[in-house]
Amino acid sequence: MPFKSLGLHPLLVRATQDLGYKEPTPVQAGAIPPALEGRDVIATAQTGTGKTAGFLLPVLHRLIGAPRGGTRVLILSPTRELAEQIADVGRGLARHTQVRSALIVGGRPMGPQERALRDGIEVLVATPGRLLDLLQRGVAKLDRATTLVLDEADTMFDMGFLPDVRRIIARMPARNHTLFFSATMPPVIAKLANELLRNPATVQIGRRSATAVGITQAAYPVPTHLKTALLRHLLGETEMPSVLVFTRTKHNAKKLARVLTNDGFSVAELHSNRTPSQRTRAMEGFRRGEFQVMVATNIAARGLDVDHITHVISTDVPDVPEDYVHRIGRTGRAGATGDAFVLVSREEEEALARIERQVGQRLPRVMLPEFDYAAPAPPKPPGGNQKGGRGVPQQRPQGRTRGPGKPQGQASKPNRDGQRSGRRGGGNHGQGGQR
Ligand code: AMP
Repeated sequence: MPFKSLGLHPLLVRATQDLGYKEPTPVQAGAIPPALEGRDVIATAQTGTGKTAGFLLPVLHRLIGAPRGGTRVLILSPTRELAEQIADVGRGLARHTQVRSALIVGGRPMGPQERALRDGIEVLVATPGRLLDLLQRGVAKLDRATTLVLDEADTMFDMGFLPDVRRIIARMPARNHTLFFSATMPPVIAKLANELLRNPATVQIGRRSATAVGITQAAYPVPTHLKTALLRHLLGETEMPSVLVFTRTKHNAKKLARVLTNDGFSVAELHSNRTPSQRTRAMEGFRRGEFQVMVATNIAARGLDVDHITHVISTDVPDVPEDYVHRIGRTGRAGATGDAFVLVSREEEEALARIERQVGQRLPRVMLPEFDYAAPAPPKPPGGNQKGGRGVPQQRPQGRTRGPGKPQGQASKPNRDGQRSGRRGGGNHGQGGQR
Protein backbone atom coordinates (compact mmCIF):
# COMPACT_ATOMS: atom_id res chain seq x y z
CA MET A 1 0.00 0.00 0.00
CA PRO A 2 1.62 3.30 -1.03
CA PHE A 3 1.54 6.44 1.14
CA LYS A 4 -0.70 8.06 -1.48
CA SER A 5 -3.56 5.73 -0.67
CA LEU A 6 -3.66 6.95 2.94
CA GLY A 7 -5.10 10.24 1.69
CA LEU A 8 -2.03 12.34 2.49
CA HIS A 9 -1.33 15.64 0.77
CA PRO A 10 0.82 15.14 -2.37
CA LEU A 11 3.56 17.40 -0.93
CA LEU A 12 3.87 15.03 2.01
CA VAL A 13 3.79 11.94 -0.19
CA ARG A 14 6.65 13.50 -2.13
CA ALA A 15 8.63 13.99 1.08
CA THR A 16 8.15 10.35 2.09
CA GLN A 17 9.58 9.41 -1.29
CA ASP A 18 12.53 11.77 -0.77
CA LEU A 19 13.20 10.07 2.56
CA GLY A 20 13.11 6.66 0.92
CA TYR A 21 9.97 5.45 2.71
CA LYS A 22 8.49 2.95 0.29
CA GLU A 23 5.29 2.16 2.11
CA PRO A 24 3.73 2.96 5.47
CA THR A 25 4.83 0.90 8.45
CA PRO A 26 2.01 -0.81 10.39
CA VAL A 27 1.76 1.98 12.97
CA GLN A 28 1.58 4.55 10.17
CA ALA A 29 -1.07 2.58 8.30
CA GLY A 30 -3.05 2.30 11.53
CA ALA A 31 -2.68 5.83 12.90
CA ILE A 32 -2.64 8.10 9.84
CA PRO A 33 -6.15 7.55 8.39
CA PRO A 34 -8.08 8.20 11.63
CA ALA A 35 -5.78 11.10 12.57
CA LEU A 36 -6.37 12.68 9.14
CA GLU A 37 -10.09 12.64 9.90
CA GLY A 38 -9.43 14.45 13.15
CA ARG A 39 -10.01 11.43 15.35
CA ASP A 40 -8.02 10.97 18.52
CA VAL A 41 -5.53 8.11 18.37
CA ILE A 42 -3.93 5.97 21.02
CA ALA A 43 -1.01 3.93 19.74
CA THR A 44 1.06 1.39 21.60
CA ALA A 45 4.24 1.40 19.60
CA GLN A 46 7.86 1.69 20.53
CA THR A 47 10.59 3.57 18.72
CA GLY A 48 11.77 1.77 15.63
CA THR A 49 8.25 1.22 14.34
CA GLY A 50 8.04 4.50 12.40
CA LYS A 51 5.72 6.10 14.96
CA THR A 52 7.25 9.57 14.55
CA ALA A 53 6.12 9.89 10.93
CA GLY A 54 2.92 8.19 12.08
CA PHE A 55 1.94 11.31 14.03
CA LEU A 56 3.86 13.94 12.05
CA LEU A 57 2.29 13.19 8.68
CA PRO A 58 -1.35 13.71 9.72
CA VAL A 59 -0.37 16.72 11.83
CA LEU A 60 1.41 18.35 8.86
CA HIS A 61 -1.40 17.41 6.48
CA ARG A 62 -3.95 19.25 8.58
CA LEU A 63 -1.72 22.32 8.75
CA ILE A 64 -1.15 22.66 5.01
CA GLY A 65 -3.34 25.49 3.84
CA ALA A 66 -4.51 26.33 7.38
CA PRO A 67 -4.16 29.97 8.52
CA ARG A 68 -0.62 30.66 9.70
CA GLY A 69 0.61 32.36 12.81
CA GLY A 70 0.55 31.06 16.35
CA THR A 71 1.13 27.62 17.78
CA ARG A 72 -1.39 25.13 16.42
CA VAL A 73 0.30 21.87 17.32
CA LEU A 74 2.26 20.87 20.37
CA ILE A 75 4.36 17.73 20.32
CA LEU A 76 5.62 16.80 23.77
CA SER A 77 8.62 14.52 24.14
CA PRO A 78 10.29 13.32 27.35
CA THR A 79 13.89 13.98 26.30
CA ARG A 80 15.80 16.55 24.35
CA GLU A 81 17.35 13.89 22.13
CA LEU A 82 13.96 12.50 21.16
CA ALA A 83 12.59 16.01 20.60
CA GLU A 84 15.53 16.79 18.32
CA GLN A 85 14.86 13.66 16.32
CA ILE A 86 11.17 14.47 16.00
CA ALA A 87 12.05 17.97 14.82
CA ASP A 88 14.52 16.50 12.30
CA VAL A 89 11.96 14.08 10.88
CA GLY A 90 9.42 16.94 10.90
CA ARG A 91 11.72 19.16 8.85
CA GLY A 92 12.26 16.32 6.38
CA LEU A 93 8.55 15.63 5.98
CA ALA A 94 7.57 19.30 5.80
CA ARG A 95 10.30 20.23 3.31
CA HIS A 96 7.89 20.92 0.41
CA THR A 97 5.38 22.77 2.58
CA GLN A 98 5.28 26.14 4.32
CA VAL A 99 4.74 24.58 7.75
CA ARG A 100 7.35 25.67 10.26
CA SER A 101 8.40 23.98 13.45
CA ALA A 102 10.49 25.02 16.43
CA LEU A 103 12.34 23.06 19.07
CA ILE A 104 11.72 24.11 22.67
CA VAL A 105 14.10 22.12 24.86
CA GLY A 106 16.26 22.64 27.91
CA GLY A 107 20.03 22.93 27.71
CA ARG A 108 19.83 25.17 24.66
CA PRO A 109 20.01 28.97 24.53
CA MET A 110 16.68 30.65 25.23
CA GLY A 111 17.07 33.40 22.61
CA PRO A 112 16.32 31.49 19.39
CA GLN A 113 13.50 29.59 21.10
CA GLU A 114 11.88 32.80 22.29
CA ARG A 115 12.23 34.30 18.82
CA ALA A 116 10.59 31.25 17.25
CA LEU A 117 7.69 31.62 19.67
CA ARG A 118 7.29 35.33 18.91
CA ASP A 119 7.34 34.50 15.17
CA GLY A 120 4.26 32.36 15.69
CA ILE A 121 5.73 29.07 14.51
CA GLU A 122 2.91 26.55 13.97
CA VAL A 123 4.44 23.36 15.38
CA LEU A 124 6.30 23.21 18.67
CA VAL A 125 8.33 20.15 19.53
CA ALA A 126 9.07 20.51 23.22
CA THR A 127 10.24 18.89 26.40
CA PRO A 128 7.99 19.70 29.36
CA GLY A 129 10.41 21.61 31.62
CA ARG A 130 11.53 24.30 29.19
CA LEU A 131 8.07 24.73 27.71
CA LEU A 132 6.49 25.19 31.12
CA ASP A 133 9.11 27.77 31.96
CA LEU A 134 8.33 29.74 28.78
CA LEU A 135 4.58 29.40 29.34
CA GLN A 136 4.89 30.71 32.87
CA ARG A 137 6.87 33.70 31.64
CA GLY A 138 4.21 34.40 29.03
CA VAL A 139 6.62 33.89 26.11
CA ALA A 140 4.92 30.72 24.91
CA LYS A 141 1.18 30.66 24.37
CA LEU A 142 -0.93 27.63 23.68
CA ASP A 143 -4.39 29.19 23.70
CA ARG A 144 -4.85 28.61 19.96
CA ALA A 145 -3.19 25.19 19.88
CA THR A 146 -5.71 22.57 18.85
CA THR A 147 -3.57 19.46 18.45
CA LEU A 148 -1.54 17.71 21.12
CA VAL A 149 0.84 14.86 20.44
CA LEU A 150 2.14 13.08 23.50
CA ASP A 151 5.10 10.91 22.57
CA GLU A 152 6.54 8.18 24.80
CA ALA A 153 3.96 8.86 27.48
CA ASP A 154 5.32 6.00 29.57
CA THR A 155 8.78 7.56 29.59
CA MET A 156 7.23 10.88 30.63
CA PHE A 157 5.85 9.08 33.63
CA ASP A 158 9.13 7.24 34.36
CA MET A 159 10.97 10.54 34.34
CA GLY A 160 8.48 12.22 36.65
CA PHE A 161 7.09 14.62 34.05
CA LEU A 162 3.39 13.81 34.33
CA PRO A 163 2.57 16.75 36.65
CA ASP A 164 4.29 19.14 34.20
CA VAL A 165 2.50 17.51 31.29
CA ARG A 166 -0.84 18.04 33.00
CA ARG A 167 0.01 21.69 33.71
CA ILE A 168 0.89 22.23 30.06
CA ILE A 169 -2.26 20.55 28.79
CA ALA A 170 -4.33 22.72 31.11
CA ARG A 171 -3.07 25.68 29.06
CA MET A 172 -4.51 24.27 25.85
CA PRO A 173 -8.20 25.24 26.09
CA ALA A 174 -8.74 24.87 22.33
CA ARG A 175 -7.40 21.30 22.22
CA ASN A 176 -9.70 19.16 20.13
CA HIS A 177 -7.32 16.57 18.68
CA THR A 178 -4.95 14.37 20.65
CA LEU A 179 -2.53 11.70 19.46
CA PHE A 180 -1.20 9.58 22.28
CA PHE A 181 1.86 7.35 21.82
CA SER A 182 3.42 5.05 24.37
CA ALA A 183 5.65 1.99 24.12
CA THR A 184 3.83 0.39 27.02
CA MET A 185 0.52 1.00 28.71
CA PRO A 186 0.90 0.67 32.49
CA PRO A 187 -2.24 1.60 34.48
CA VAL A 188 -1.14 5.18 35.18
CA ILE A 189 -0.69 5.82 31.46
CA ALA A 190 -3.97 4.14 30.56
CA LYS A 191 -5.66 6.46 33.09
CA LEU A 192 -4.07 9.54 31.55
CA ALA A 193 -5.12 8.39 28.07
CA ASN A 194 -8.63 7.91 29.34
CA GLU A 195 -8.72 11.46 30.63
CA LEU A 196 -7.31 13.03 27.47
CA LEU A 197 -8.85 11.08 24.61
CA ARG A 198 -12.35 11.01 23.20
CA ASN A 199 -13.42 7.91 21.34
CA PRO A 200 -9.89 7.22 20.14
CA ALA A 201 -8.85 4.91 17.33
CA THR A 202 -6.59 2.29 18.86
CA VAL A 203 -3.41 1.13 17.19
CA GLN A 204 -1.46 -1.63 18.85
CA ILE A 205 1.78 -2.69 17.28
CA GLY A 206 3.04 -6.02 18.52
CA ARG A 207 2.40 -7.45 21.91
CA ARG A 208 2.66 -5.34 24.97
CA SER A 209 6.35 -4.75 25.58
CA ALA A 210 7.29 -7.07 22.76
CA THR A 211 10.81 -6.49 21.57
CA ALA A 212 11.28 -5.18 18.05
CA VAL A 213 11.49 -7.77 15.32
CA GLY A 214 14.82 -8.54 13.69
CA ILE A 215 16.78 -8.53 16.93
CA THR A 216 18.76 -11.53 18.08
CA GLN A 217 19.11 -11.50 21.82
CA ALA A 218 21.52 -13.35 24.04
CA ALA A 219 22.56 -13.21 27.68
CA TYR A 220 26.20 -13.57 28.73
CA PRO A 221 26.53 -14.82 32.30
CA VAL A 222 29.65 -13.32 33.90
CA PRO A 223 30.76 -12.30 37.39
CA THR A 224 30.38 -8.58 37.97
CA HIS A 225 34.12 -7.99 38.32
CA LEU A 226 34.75 -9.46 34.85
CA LYS A 227 32.08 -7.55 32.98
CA THR A 228 34.47 -4.95 31.59
CA ALA A 229 36.90 -7.66 30.56
CA LEU A 230 34.15 -9.65 28.82
CA LEU A 231 32.90 -6.55 27.06
CA ARG A 232 36.41 -5.76 25.81
CA HIS A 233 36.74 -9.36 24.70
CA LEU A 234 33.45 -9.23 22.80
CA LEU A 235 34.37 -5.95 21.15
CA GLY A 236 37.82 -7.20 20.26
CA GLU A 237 36.77 -10.54 18.86
CA THR A 238 33.57 -9.74 17.03
CA GLU A 239 32.73 -7.75 13.97
CA MET A 240 30.68 -4.94 15.49
CA PRO A 241 30.57 -1.95 13.18
CA SER A 242 28.32 0.18 15.36
CA VAL A 243 27.81 -0.63 19.01
CA LEU A 244 25.75 1.01 21.69
CA VAL A 245 26.91 0.03 25.18
CA PHE A 246 24.68 0.72 28.15
CA THR A 247 25.87 1.23 31.70
CA ARG A 248 23.75 1.78 34.78
CA THR A 249 25.52 4.94 35.95
CA LYS A 250 27.15 7.91 34.30
CA HIS A 251 30.26 7.25 36.36
CA ASN A 252 30.54 3.77 34.85
CA ALA A 253 29.86 5.16 31.38
CA LYS A 254 32.71 7.58 31.75
CA LYS A 255 35.10 4.95 33.10
CA LEU A 256 34.21 2.48 30.40
CA ALA A 257 34.56 5.05 27.65
CA ARG A 258 38.08 5.78 28.87
CA VAL A 259 39.02 2.08 28.95
CA LEU A 260 37.66 1.46 25.45
CA THR A 261 39.35 4.57 24.09
CA ASN A 262 42.63 3.27 25.50
CA ASP A 263 41.94 0.00 23.68
CA GLY A 264 41.94 1.94 20.43
CA PHE A 265 38.21 2.20 19.77
CA SER A 266 36.61 5.41 18.66
CA VAL A 267 34.18 6.05 21.51
CA ALA A 268 31.44 8.58 22.17
CA GLU A 269 29.85 9.16 25.58
CA LEU A 270 26.21 10.03 26.21
CA HIS A 271 25.14 10.70 29.76
CA SER A 272 23.85 13.53 31.85
CA ASN A 273 27.30 14.69 32.97
CA ARG A 274 28.04 15.78 29.42
CA THR A 275 27.14 19.28 28.33
CA PRO A 276 24.36 19.65 25.77
CA SER A 277 26.87 20.43 23.03
CA GLN A 278 29.00 17.39 23.97
CA ARG A 279 25.87 15.23 23.82
CA THR A 280 24.92 16.59 20.44
CA ARG A 281 28.45 16.06 19.12
CA ALA A 282 28.42 12.49 20.45
CA MET A 283 25.04 11.76 18.85
CA GLU A 284 25.90 13.33 15.53
CA GLY A 285 29.33 11.69 15.40
CA PHE A 286 27.85 8.31 16.20
CA ARG A 287 25.13 8.82 13.64
CA ARG A 288 27.69 9.72 10.98
CA GLY A 289 29.77 6.66 11.86
CA GLU A 290 32.74 8.62 13.27
CA PHE A 291 32.46 6.63 16.48
CA GLN A 292 32.27 2.87 16.45
CA VAL A 293 31.13 2.67 20.06
CA MET A 294 28.74 4.82 22.03
CA VAL A 295 28.69 4.33 25.79
CA ALA A 296 25.45 5.63 27.24
CA THR A 297 23.17 5.58 30.24
CA ASN A 298 19.48 4.72 29.93
CA ILE A 299 18.05 8.17 30.17
CA ALA A 300 20.49 9.75 27.77
CA ALA A 301 19.78 7.14 25.13
CA ARG A 302 15.99 7.33 25.28
CA GLY A 303 14.65 7.67 21.80
CA LEU A 304 18.10 7.55 20.23
CA ASP A 305 17.46 6.92 16.57
CA VAL A 306 20.54 5.78 14.72
CA ASP A 307 19.52 3.29 12.13
CA HIS A 308 22.88 1.58 11.60
CA ILE A 309 23.42 0.29 15.15
CA THR A 310 24.39 -3.36 14.75
CA HIS A 311 24.81 -4.25 18.42
CA VAL A 312 23.39 -3.14 21.71
CA ILE A 313 25.29 -4.42 24.74
CA SER A 314 23.88 -3.91 28.21
CA THR A 315 26.56 -4.20 30.87
CA ASP A 316 23.88 -4.42 33.55
CA VAL A 317 20.41 -5.91 33.67
CA PRO A 318 17.84 -3.11 33.99
CA ASP A 319 15.53 -3.45 36.99
CA VAL A 320 12.58 -2.32 34.91
CA PRO A 321 11.83 -4.65 31.98
CA GLU A 322 10.59 -1.76 29.83
CA ASP A 323 14.06 -0.20 30.07
CA TYR A 324 15.48 -3.35 28.55
CA VAL A 325 12.94 -3.23 25.74
CA HIS A 326 13.81 0.41 25.09
CA ARG A 327 17.52 -0.35 25.07
CA ILE A 328 17.39 -3.18 22.61
CA GLY A 329 14.98 -1.21 20.42
CA ARG A 330 17.99 0.97 19.54
CA THR A 331 19.07 -1.74 17.12
CA GLY A 332 16.96 -3.53 14.52
CA ARG A 333 15.40 -0.19 13.58
CA ALA A 334 12.78 0.00 10.84
CA GLY A 335 13.01 -3.61 9.80
CA ALA A 336 16.82 -3.90 9.96
CA THR A 337 18.48 -6.61 12.00
CA GLY A 338 20.67 -6.30 15.06
CA ASP A 339 22.06 -8.15 18.03
CA ALA A 340 21.32 -7.33 21.64
CA PHE A 341 23.53 -8.79 24.34
CA VAL A 342 23.13 -8.42 28.05
CA LEU A 343 25.90 -9.20 30.53
CA VAL A 344 24.33 -10.80 33.55
CA SER A 345 25.86 -11.51 36.94
CA ARG A 346 24.45 -14.17 39.23
CA GLU A 347 22.81 -11.45 41.33
CA GLU A 348 21.01 -10.12 38.27
CA GLU A 349 19.48 -13.40 37.13
CA GLU A 350 16.22 -12.60 38.89
CA ALA A 351 15.89 -9.26 37.11
CA LEU A 352 16.64 -11.03 33.84
CA ALA A 353 13.92 -13.60 34.56
CA ARG A 354 11.45 -10.72 34.97
CA ILE A 355 12.51 -9.35 31.59
CA GLU A 356 12.18 -12.77 29.99
CA ARG A 357 8.66 -13.11 31.34
CA GLN A 358 7.77 -9.71 29.98
CA VAL A 359 9.20 -10.24 26.49
CA GLY A 360 7.83 -13.79 26.46
CA GLN A 361 11.13 -15.33 25.53
CA ARG A 362 13.98 -17.03 27.35
CA LEU A 363 17.26 -15.55 26.21
CA PRO A 364 19.87 -18.08 25.17
CA ARG A 365 22.82 -18.06 27.58
CA VAL A 366 26.19 -17.81 25.90
CA MET A 367 29.57 -18.44 27.46
CA LEU A 368 32.83 -18.15 25.59
CA PRO A 369 35.17 -21.12 25.90
CA GLU A 370 38.24 -18.94 25.42
CA PHE A 371 37.32 -16.43 28.12
CA ASP A 372 38.67 -16.94 31.63
CA TYR A 373 35.58 -16.81 33.83
CA ALA A 374 37.61 -17.78 36.89
CA ALA A 375 39.97 -14.80 36.71
CA PRO A 376 40.17 -12.85 39.95
CA ALA A 377 39.12 -9.24 40.11
CA PRO A 378 41.74 -7.07 38.45
CA PRO A 379 43.67 -4.93 40.93
CA LYS A 380 42.23 -1.45 41.14
CA PRO A 381 44.57 0.67 39.06
CA PRO A 382 45.47 4.08 40.41
CA GLY A 383 43.36 6.59 38.50
CA GLY A 384 40.97 3.92 37.27
CA ASN A 385 42.75 3.02 34.03
CA GLN A 386 42.32 -0.72 33.66
CA LYS A 387 44.42 -1.13 30.57
CA GLY A 388 46.27 -4.39 30.70
CA GLY A 389 44.31 -5.66 33.70
CA ARG A 390 44.30 -9.36 34.42
CA GLY A 391 42.10 -11.58 32.34
CA VAL A 392 41.80 -8.88 29.72
CA PRO A 393 43.22 -8.99 26.22
CA GLN A 394 46.03 -6.47 25.92
CA GLN A 395 45.11 -5.13 22.53
CA ARG A 396 42.17 -5.20 20.26
CA PRO A 397 43.03 -7.55 17.37
CA GLN A 398 43.01 -5.74 14.07
CA GLY A 399 41.39 -8.23 11.70
CA ARG A 400 38.41 -9.12 13.80
CA THR A 401 36.64 -12.05 12.29
CA ARG A 402 35.87 -14.38 15.13
CA GLY A 403 32.54 -14.60 16.78
CA PRO A 404 31.52 -14.29 20.39
CA GLY A 405 29.98 -17.73 20.46
CA LYS A 406 26.59 -18.22 19.02
CA PRO A 407 23.80 -19.87 20.92
CA GLN A 408 23.36 -23.45 19.87
CA GLY A 409 21.23 -24.04 16.83
CA GLN A 410 21.31 -20.41 15.79
CA ALA A 411 22.91 -19.53 12.51
CA SER A 412 24.67 -16.23 12.06
CA LYS A 413 22.48 -13.83 10.20
CA PRO A 414 23.31 -11.33 7.54
CA ASN A 415 24.30 -7.87 8.64
CA ARG A 416 22.95 -4.71 7.10
CA ASP A 417 25.05 -5.08 3.98
CA GLY A 418 23.62 -8.51 3.40
CA GLN A 419 26.90 -10.15 4.43
CA ARG A 420 27.46 -12.62 7.17
CA SER A 421 28.49 -10.87 10.31
CA GLY A 422 31.82 -12.64 10.40
CA ARG A 423 30.80 -14.82 13.30
CA ARG A 424 31.28 -18.47 12.83
CA GLY A 425 28.10 -20.42 13.02
CA GLY A 426 30.06 -23.65 13.38
CA GLY A 427 33.13 -24.46 15.46
CA ASN A 428 32.88 -24.94 19.16
CA HIS A 429 32.18 -21.35 20.07
CA GLY A 430 29.65 -21.06 22.78
CA GLN A 431 28.76 -24.72 22.70
CA GLY A 432 30.41 -26.00 25.83
CA GLY A 433 29.37 -23.12 28.00
CA GLN A 434 25.71 -22.95 27.26
CA ARG A 435 23.19 -23.56 29.90
P1 AMP B 1 10.65 5.90 14.73
O1 AMP B 1 9.97 4.69 15.26
O2 AMP B 1 9.70 6.99 14.40
O3 AMP B 1 11.77 6.36 15.63
O4 AMP B 1 11.30 5.53 13.30
C1 AMP B 1 12.34 4.60 13.18
C2 AMP B 1 13.06 4.71 11.86
O5 AMP B 1 12.23 4.28 10.79
C3 AMP B 1 13.49 6.13 11.50
O6 AMP B 1 14.84 6.06 11.14
C4 AMP B 1 12.62 6.51 10.34
O7 AMP B 1 13.30 7.35 9.43
C5 AMP B 1 12.31 5.18 9.69
N1 AMP B 1 11.01 5.12 9.01
C6 AMP B 1 9.86 5.70 9.41
N2 AMP B 1 8.85 5.40 8.56
C7 AMP B 1 9.37 4.62 7.60
C8 AMP B 1 8.82 3.96 6.44
N3 AMP B 1 7.54 4.08 6.12
N4 AMP B 1 9.66 3.24 5.68
C9 AMP B 1 10.96 3.12 6.02
N5 AMP B 1 11.54 3.70 7.08
C10 AMP B 1 10.76 4.42 7.89
